[in-house]
Parts: sequence; structure tokens; C-alpha cells
Amino acid sequence: MSARLEIQNLSHRYRRGEEALSDLSLTVEPGELVALLGPSGCGKTTALKVVAGLLRPTAGDVRVDGVSVVGTPPERRAAAMVFQKSLLFPHMSVEANVGFGLRMRGVSNEDTARRVASALGRVRMDDFAERQPGELSGGQQQRVALARALVTEPGLLLLDEPLSALDANLREEMRALIIELQREGGYTTVFVTHDQEEAVVLADRIALLFDGKLQMYDRPEAFYDRPVSRTAARFFGATNFIEGHAENGAVHTPLGKLRLATPPPPGKVTLTIRPEAVRLEAGENSFTARVASAAYLGTRIHYGLETSDTSLRAALPPHVRLRVGDKVTARLPAESLWVLDP
Ligand code: ATP
Repeated sequence: MSARLEIQNLSHRYRRGEEALSDLSLTVEPGELVALLGPSGCGKTTALKVVAGLLRPTAGDVRVDGVSVVGTPPERRAAAMVFQKSLLFPHMSVEANVGFGLRMRGVSNEDTARRVASALGRVRMDDFAERQPGELSGGQQQRVALARALVTEPGLLLLDEPLSALDANLREEMRALIIELQREGGYTTVFVTHDQEEAVVLADRIALLFDGKLQMYDRPEAFYDRPVSRTAARFFGATNFIEGHAENGAVHTPLGKLRLATPPPPGKVTLTIRPEAVRLEAGENSFTARVASAAYLGTRIHYGLETSDTSLRAALPPHVRLRVGDKVTARLPAESLWVLDP
């Protein structure tokens, strides 16, 4: 049932404008949920529309279970799409909206009724079958849109920022529902979002796009533990970059000689460390710095630390109170230092 999706060297250029998508390649395994993540305008929606068949790529291929679908019209692809706005038919009941695709496919009334009831049950909207979309909240409309997508038992579920118009609480509830439906149904899912937290909560793997190009494709934790580039590191809140030269198992930097859990091969390197991994203590990889700034963020305080030629950010628990101008000893634990790809 669930399909394997292969996106191969996909590029798209709109009639007006720059290339919106450049040479994107990635594979989504059957039953996997992949988040297409990136800032506004990076090409996420373009990629999803090409997969859905709503746009024809300028170059490259889309394969579903090994078969190219680039020439297949959207209605004949085994894909169902849910958009940011639910796009329900306003003058049809919830039940009629959800059953529409099945009736178009010639499924009998009896079968349609049964499948619609089951789909509405799964998104917990069975009590709303008779209502019209205008009589539902935004969150309820998105549930109906999900039911409408699921009722066709799609091999591929394509979700384009389906939660971005909802408020924070509802978004969390809907994320939980999507995870539950995904686990039960095992749908191969591509989920577009610009929200890093949403991608981390939902996805088995994240594809990070910038300027139409794939930056990194990996499991969520890898974006924290081993980002490949400054762009990937920054997007996930790792703002510390230290230039250095690796030699004899250590890296010579403006902060002194730093040791890493896995020493890099000799040569020029850029190190990164997450602000929350910086410690205020003496020991291996420690140095003195001046507190240059402090920003209170509720659960953490972000301090800017400066030496004569380097600045770093440290995120510390709120009970650690430093004042701007204080001299501190900070330490970068070896196991938290990571080398970016050259
Ligand atoms: P958002 O999160 O804001 O929806 P996105 O990552 O989904 O952004 P896309 O909608 O795929 O980005 O757009 C990628 C690029 O293509 C942008 O620079 C956008 O301006 C451009 N673009 C999108 N649609 C068209 C179009 N119909 N014609 C010309 N350019 C377009």
C-alpha cells in the first residue's frame, strides 16, 4: 500500500523568475514521514507540487515504486494532498466533501458511506458529518481535509503546511493526530513546513532546503548533533562557529588548543557547538571570556561571551545569573564540538 518515492535530480524554473528548485534528489522509504523544511521561498511547495503532478519539472524525475510518474496526471497518481487552507467545497456537507473523490472514482454509495464514516472517525469528526465547512473551526476543517485525503487510501500523502494557520495548542493536537494516523496507516508522507520544531516532532527524516537546493537530509537528531554546514547548523540554532587548524589530534583556534572526541584530519576546519552545550567551568577546552550581552528567554538565558577575537553564545539555565561585563571561565566539552564539512 505505502509507496516508495524517489525524487531524482529535480529542477524547476517558473516562466518568470529564478530556478525555484535545483537538482533535488531524495528517497522516501515506504511508510516514512519526511519533512521538507526551509525558510519561505526555498522551494518546498514547488517540490511538493511536482511530486503531486501539479507542476511539470524542468528537469529530473519522480518515481513511485520504481515507475516514473512525471507524465502521469495528478488524478492518476496514488497521491493525496492537503494544503495550508483546507479548500473544502463550501456548499457540500462534510460527508459529501470527504466522499467526493470516491464517488468520482465510481465507488458504490454503500462503500463510500462506509469509508467516509471510517475516515471521519479516524480524525474524530464523526459528529460533524452533516455540517458544511463554514460551520467548522479552522482546525476542524483541516481534520476534514485530512479525512478527505486518507479516504482514498493514498500510497503517498503530501501535506503542505497543513497546520500553519492553526493556533499553537491546536497545532500540537493536530501533530499528535498526524503521528497517530501515520503510524496506523503507514502512509509514505511528505510534510512541508518552515517550522523547525514541527519538523523535529513529526519527521523520521528531515530534508532541509535553502535556495532550491538540498542542504542536508538526515534524521532530526543529526541536525543538532552533526550538522553538515553553517546553514544547517544555524537553522537549528547552533550559532557558534570557530575557525581553526587541525594538527596532531587537536584544533588550534583563537580560543586555544581544543580537543575533540573524534580528532579531525589535519587541515583548516570550522568547529561548531550548540549554545546549550557551553559550560561555565574550568577544565579541558576552557578559556576566559567577558559577558557581552544577556537575553532572558524564560527557560534559558542566552549570554554573548567575548574573548579578544572570538564571540560565542552560551544558553544557560535561568538560575545562572551573569552580568554584562563579568569575567567568566567557559568550557567547550570535547564531545559537543563538531566539525562542519569543508
Ligand atoms: P513558502 O514557505 O513561503 O510557501 P516555499 O519554500 O514553499 O515558500 P515556493 O512556493 O516553492 O517556496 O517558491 C520557491 C520560489 O519560486 C520562490 O522564489 C517563489 O517566489 C517562486 N515562485 C513560486 N511560484 C511561482 C510562480 N507561479 N511563478 C514564478 N515564481 C514562483
